[in-house]
Amino acid sequence: MNSGSRPEPRKVIAALPQYSSAAGTSRVTWRASSNESVLPPSPRVVEAIARAGATAHLYPSLLGDALVADIAERLQVTARQVVVGGGSLALLQQTLSTYTGHGTEVIFGWRSYEAYPILVGVAGSDAVPVPLGADGTHDLAAMLAAVTPSTKAIILCNPNNPTGTEVGREQVELFLQRVPPTVLVLLDEAYQEFATTSLDGVGLLDAYPNLAVFRTFSKAYGLAGLRAGYMVTSEEIADFVRVASPPFGLSTVAEAAAQEAGADADYSARVLRLVAEGRDRLRAGLAERGFPTPVSGGNFVWIPLPHGARELEVGCIARGVSVRAFDGEGVRATVGERAAEDAVLAAVDDLMATVASSPGKTLT
Ligand SMILES: *Cc1c(COP(=O)(O)O)cnc(C)c1O
Repeated sequence: MNSGSRPEPRKVIAALPQYSSAAGTSRVTWRASSNESVLPPSPRVVEAIARAGATAHLYPSLLGDALVADIAERLQVTARQVVVGGGSLALLQQTLSTYTGHGTEVIFGWRSYEAYPILVGVAGSDAVPVPLGADGTHDLAAMLAAVTPSTKAIILCNPNNPTGTEVGREQVELFLQRVPPTVLVLLDEAYQEFATTSLDGVGLLDAYPNLAVFRTFSKAYGLAGLRAGYMVTSEEIADFVRVASPPFGLSTVAEAAAQEAGADADYSARVLRLVAEGRDRLRAGLAERGFPTPVSGGNFVWIPLPHGARELEVGCIARGVSVRAFDGEGVRATVGERAAEDAVLAAVDDLMATVASSPGKTLT
């Protein structure tokens, strides 16, 4: 069709990749492709959802006041420091649109969360991806070296999706001390509950007024389908992000569910136990087969596989489990369900058998 005969999106939008969804999720028994919780919400959370549903004809509070109050109390910060929204993705987007835009640069490590280049592009800013170090962890020195006068923000995903790698508290503090105070640091802690190190971004907020921490109810709290996340930062930054946020961004049902899930310590403890066991189990099984994997601070394991990522994904689907493949890099598998972990290992065995019978073919 002629351009000129239809509405044209902004050029930056037309140039961006679409979000991809994992292959095969409708055909499999287990989903290990999106880092969802392996347990459905607890009965008390389901009840809270039903109760809230009975008032669905009414608008929620403008800014999710009840959930904000709960989070502020739990984290020992002021309510003004907390912004809630329809998932941490939405809050990342609102923050980028508040602080970045045309003519500015946003730095992030790469490979990391596939949403970052898209969110940065939608904000109109230029993405500056900085390769991870050889061990798959963030190369903080290289990220600092990438700062220019145009840099407005740095996104740090810790633990990192999809490699599961973590940077320690001391490294992050040294990094924050060197970032210019005019550059906003977005610390994405979507997997903080599963972390193996003691880094807790909220504990750093007093010392670093250019820091914003993002967390979610989608993973350890099992509410991915309802969309609830939060940001904790300085009161000033939070005030500006609230200005850029859509009113009523958190639904009544999501708010009630998040409040109940946040108070349900048994549920998250069960999820954490299943995940910790699953990580150890899957990593041990992979190591036995000659595939060393990085220690993971997430609810998933990263399988570096420069040759064969897509083949392993296809093999996993054939074994009844969806995983996430990144061409030429590796495969990310969510853990917590024993049968799904076994299916991944069986798919690795299948793949090794294929390789053994194909002269010249290698995987790593
Ligand atoms: C899953 C995930 C999120 C969470 O997104 P929600 O919008 O809260 O569901 C954010 N960041 C990373 C790195 C993730 O993997």
